[in-house]
Amino acid sequence: MTPVITNAVGVALDIARRDESDPLARLKQRFHLPAGMVYLAGNSLGPTPVAAFADMEAAMRREWAEGLVRSWNDAGWFTLAESLGDRVGALAGAAAGQTMVCDSVSVNVYKALQAGRSLRPKRTTIVAEGGSFPTDLYVAEGVVAGAPGMELLLEGVDGARIEDLVDERTAVVLVNHVDYRTGELRDMAAMTRFIHDKGALVVWDLCHSIGVVPVELDRAGADLAVGCTYKYLNCGPGAPAFIYAAARHQATLRQPLSGWWGHATPFAFERGYRPDNGARRLLCGTQPILSMRTLDAGLAAIEDVDMHTLRAKSIAITDLFMTLVEDACRTHGATIVTPRDPARRGSQVSIAFEHGYPVVQALMARGVVGDFRAPDMMRFGFSPAYLSYADVHRAASAFNAVLEGGDWRDARFTARRAVT
Ligand SMILES: *Cc1c(COP(=O)(O)O)cnc(C)c1O
Repeated sequence: MTPVITNAVGVALDIARRDESDPLARLKQRFHLPAGMVYLAGNSLGPTPVAAFADMEAAMRREWAEGLVRSWNDAGWFTLAESLGDRVGALAGAAAGQTMVCDSVSVNVYKALQAGRSLRPKRTTIVAEGGSFPTDLYVAEGVVAGAPGMELLLEGVDGARIEDLVDERTAVVLVNHVDYRTGELRDMAAMTRFIHDKGALVVWDLCHSIGVVPVELDRAGADLAVGCTYKYLNCGPGAPAFIYAAARHQATLRQPLSGWWGHATPFAFERGYRPDNGARRLLCGTQPILSMRTLDAGLAAIEDVDMHTLRAKSIAITDLFMTLVEDACRTHGATIVTPRDPARRGSQVSIAFEHGYPVVQALMARGVVGDFRAPDMMRFGFSPAYLSYADVHRAASAFNAVLEGGDWRDARFTARRAVT
């Protein structure tokens, strides 16, 4: 890795050189980025792919307004869940026929946990991370509440590590590939192997890795996975999520939301549920087609690029940011929580600071958008697809200036808004 030069002129030259030789620089024009903004919240909601404007216009005017009900066939609406699913799957190392784009992450966690239980019916525990994204745990609690005798065991609560909690009672382990708070990356292959050695199944949550970290679901031998399309895949607010089930499990797993889209012959209108033999059994009902129509643009913006090229830049820009802010952090009592070891981090930098909320607000006033997660975590998501090294430098300079100048103390930055 290129050493970072620390005097001001040297840094500026180094940044310019890196942008000039960046093989991904051309991707930035595929996104609409508001003027004057450095956007570091793509781990929460990715920016608009430029192609989505025309796609939405076509979906509204041609497919809906003119095509009407014929568009289920003519515009491929009925098969979008699988055609888009195969493309998302390709970004996650999944061969075709195993991934569906549908529903929300929360709903897909429910289906995946229940599908896992259906494959391990005699087992009585679900294991998850106590620090997981809350909705994953809320859903797991709901699964357990509806299944007398089932128990939910949490890393950090019932045992120090996931490895301490998985045993012959474990049906399913729900694990995040990248931790949404700390940005820490798990070794998918090793964890999957460990879980399988105990006879349990794994559900990987890919919300914070898909699109920025190479994911190898098939190679790792993953059983089930879920993930988000509106974060690093840039597919739009509330765009449908995805769910993966390894081919070997599809004919036997059961998921409880047995709606007509998962039926073997939905248009036979048979009495009695008979699931499709393949991944379509993961579906429930009619999908939000207009929201699905923005996926093509989001996926097309990165799918012609090798994921390892994206990963190399992601590592470089997160490293650059940490290097540029670490002195200011040390001086002002803020702590970089994300691992410096690139093998152990995703594509975000998290900094714990007692006054994190007003710092994030003060940064926003300077055109640098990150976010905040209670109680004290500032999160900065770094997408290699649309951030330049100059953007990263500008963000770090603003961060340092806010800490040094103390402008976060201003009353207008301390008032808490609903979405943080
Ligand atoms: C973003 C995210 C979700 C979001 O769930 P929705 O049902 O789409 O609201 C769930 N889990 C994790 C780990 C996330 O990062």
